Amino acid sequence: MAKGARDNIILQCTECKERNYVTTKNKKATPNRLEFNKFCRRCRCHRLHRENK
Ligand SMILES: [Zn+2]
Repeated sequence: MAKGARDNIILQCTECKERNYVTTKNKKATPNRLEFNKFCRRCRCHRLHRENK
């Protein structure tokens, strides 16, 4: 296991609130909320996904 400040985060669809993606980030290097335009299975199209703990 890697030591350090990388934390698991969940990317949640801003439209339907489905949690579609899990990733990691360094909270010290990236204190702001991440946003990605990714495919949502429930919406069946690309939606903005936002970091959600
Ligand atoms: Zn969605």
